[in-house]
Amino acid sequence: MEKLRELGASWQIFHSNFNAKYGAAFNLIVLLLIAAAVAAVLIRAALAGRKSRIAPSPLASRTPDKERTDHAAESLAMAIRCPSITGREEEMLAIGRLLKERYPLAAKTLDWATLPGGSLLLRWRAEDPGENEPALLCSHLDVVPGGEGWSVCDPFDGIRQGGRIYGRGAADCKAAVVAMLEATETLLAEGVTPRRDVYYAFGCDGEAGGRKGAARIAKIMEKEGLQFSLVLDEGGTFRETMPDGRRYYPAAYIGMGEKRLCEYRLTAACEGGRSAVPGRTTALGVLSEAICRVESAQPHHHLLPIVRRQINATMSGFSFGKRLVLTSPLLREVFVGKLFRNEPALSALVRSTVVPTRVDGGFTAGHVLPATASVLLNARLLPGEDPERELEELRALTADLPVEAELISAGDESFLTSENQPMYKLLKSTIEGLYPTLPCIATLTPTAEDARHYSALSDCILRFSPLTLGPEGGGKAHGADENLSEKALGLAVEIYEGLLRKL
Ligand SMILES: [Zn+2]
Repeated sequence: MEKLRELGASWQIFHSNFNAKYGAAFNLIVLLLIAAAVAAVLIRAALAGRKSRIAPSPLASRTPDKERTDHAAESLAMAIRCPSITGREEEMLAIGRLLKERYPLAAKTLDWATLPGGSLLLRWRAEDPGENEPALLCSHLDVVPGGEGWSVCDPFDGIRQGGRIYGRGAADCKAAVVAMLEATETLLAEGVTPRRDVYYAFGCDGEAGGRKGAARIAKIMEKEGLQFSLVLDEGGTFRETMPDGRRYYPAAYIGMGEKRLCEYRLTAACEGGRSAVPGRTTALGVLSEAICRVESAQPHHHLLPIVRRQINATMSGFSFGKRLVLTSPLLREVFVGKLFRNEPALSALVRSTVVPTRVDGGFTAGHVLPATASVLLNARLLPGEDPERELEELRALTADLPVEAELISAGDESFLTSENQPMYKLLKSTIEGLYPTLPCIATLTPTAEDARHYSALSDCILRFSPLTLGPEGGGKAHGADENLSEKALGLAVEIYEGLLRKL
């Protein structure tokens, strides 16, 4: 009401100006200024869409070597048939044996160590590394369980059909393992040796935090005093579409750091006992209220410079309406959180997230009220955000409820690799060598990858597997009908080959 009155008063001044000397001229200037500002915003948004031409997808740009792609596709299909769900050591060992058979030159030339749990640690020795620090290529051998809803085949059938390889691990992450070794085998056949030692670390539990695999490998390396010029793990890919999955916008997304994985628990406590004579509140009811509050009060958005640069770099992939907000610094800072609210992949880039993943509470007897019930909250914090502060937020959110909030675990914070790192430039130039018009975009990885275990061993940790994901390439990691096009696999081999030649 107050605001309306003020608005009315302003209008009266504006209106009465027309009668005053020079008033009309003054008003005209004000109107022109407003019109110019609006026009500037519109023109900027329109031009931002035309600035960069959309490049063709890697899949449309090149055709990989047929014979080699066929060999890699067969290797991948065979690897999928080892159902290496995290924890199944026998299956990891089976993949190790399979890879040795499929890549005999690598098996013969590289130092090949199988570690407890089934992880693989390989080393390709340089003839004369000199001062060159070694490089580390990472991936993981384990997969998540098959799950339900598969229509093309069963999760571990590992079939090739219609130019695609189907099965659990096709995209995440056996394709990267196969592509790295396929490229290495090619170079070995040519008699190439790298300028620096190249290590390959394939963990046995990348899907479960990497404590048995990557963390142990990192310890071994730390003991040996190794420092790497580059650690390259999964986390970014070639994508055919914008992160929201809607618009065709091929680009190489290279993860320069990742969000911090933390876990919290909320425990609700109320009088338990007989369900026939309940109190006014129950532990499960209170917990539900707390969960609803957490869901609706997500952390506030915060635009990191790397994400701002990503948004600018991909501007032409956004609709005009979005560009209108994103090209104006003021509007962007205020509204970016709202703008991406319905696009989980973009929203995760501009804010920390906290989500309930598991509820514990209740007895097996259906007529007993539990005295406590708890929920596990999985949080991914943006770099620079403090887990203790998030805990305070959760406490404030549930202060009037009989709920206790605790921080269960806080993962190590990952640093953001600088875009000035020589190895980042080397990877970029490898990509640009094959796809000159394709944008390389530095980004933040919302998932937690094995790479974080190697944080102490390198200043340059990049998260990128050169698989093309999207409608033509493949994807559905962790979902039903996970698949990868054979062409995308062949192109990934090319990138690893190009990179290894430059390393
Ligand atoms: Zn993975």
